[in-house]
Amino acid sequence: MPVQKDRLVTEFEKLVSFDSESYHERKIADYLKAQLAELGLRVTEDRADEGLIREGVISHGPEHAGNVYGTLKGTAPGSPILFSAHMDTVKPGNGKQAVICEDGRITSAGDTVLGADDAGGLAAILEMLRVLREDGIPHPDLEVLFPIAEEPYGQGSRVFDYTQLQARKAFVFDLSGGLGRAAAAAPTILALQVTVKGRSAHAGFCPEEGIHAIRIAAEAMASLPSGWVDESTSINFGIISGGTLRNIVPDRVSIEGEIRSLDHEKALALADRVRTVFEETAARYGGSAQVRADVQIRAYRTDPDSETARDFHRACRETGLGEGELVDTFGGSDNNHFAQHGIEGLVVASAMQNVHTTEEYTTVSDLVKVAELAVALARKEERKEE
Ligand SMILES: [Zn+2]
Repeated sequence: MPVQKDRLVTEFEKLVSFDSESYHERKIADYLKAQLAELGLRVTEDRADEGLIREGVISHGPEHAGNVYGTLKGTAPGSPILFSAHMDTVKPGNGKQAVICEDGRITSAGDTVLGADDAGGLAAILEMLRVLREDGIPHPDLEVLFPIAEEPYGQGSRVFDYTQLQARKAFVFDLSGGLGRAAAAAPTILALQVTVKGRSAHAGFCPEEGIHAIRIAAEAMASLPSGWVDESTSINFGIISGGTLRNIVPDRVSIEGEIRSLDHEKALALADRVRTVFEETAARYGGSAQVRADVQIRAYRTDPDSETARDFHRACRETGLGEGELVDTFGGSDNNHFAQHGIEGLVVASAMQNVHTTEEYTTVSDLVKVAELAVALARKEERKEE
């Protein structure tokens, strides 16, 4: 096969070695820009970081970067294709090192994530570009987007300027689990912020003068679902804090939670229910409640008969990954934002396991397979011309 295993693994190790936790992508962005330019792409970096500073999402920092975007002129006709993988990692992601075991398994040194999420995707895309060039493989116009800050709900791809994109189909290399799968649907994610207000009073002398905010919060939560609401919707209250002293009736509780649903309207309806339950419960005790539900990303579903899906199945067959399976995921990705801009994308399984933990790993053979899959996706289909 044209993919060069040693070169690919060396590239993966290099990408892993960058400290690139979200909003600290400066060094890896510079490196990737240089690689893309060397491979003949026209490369730009936007000012996503400055936009996010203006929005108040982040404050100034020396290690910020923008989204890296490159274009490569096609050598054959065909609709343009966008390839994407994100530059950031979750924590703990500083001082990462790829440890290659004899059996081909690649882990971190144990005290950080490996960062195969998403260095595996980045390495596959770079190797694909190298192979296309070396072997003169015909391909349509290609676009490459390496966003910043995917992990915090895709903040980089949210503010990217999509008017410059030609592609209407995308392959996002950012799905964990077995190869040969691709996510064709992902959820709306709503961030919940609940504040319950009561009234404080001394709990020993005059508890009757207090309005117990924790009691209100507990009762409201107990009458709401937790976990799966139906097969495509889930809710979780993950953080709760309130109260000041053991002998004081607590006057304030704040709760943070999340709603996910493959159906956007269902997510909104559930948020309304949360709001109603908290408000009514608080009112019954003479307190008040405020519920904010912010849409972080929006659900999408890519048509299984789309050109993107057909390309994926063909590429899977060509690389010995069977027919290729389209699945639903309950995780968000940059593809949620792409879908909002009319791009039909799939999130392709890309050689990463146990992501977001220090047990994260990949394997040499999976890295090679994913790079081969990327080549097959970019290659102009030979059998028929449109
Ligand atoms: Zn990822």
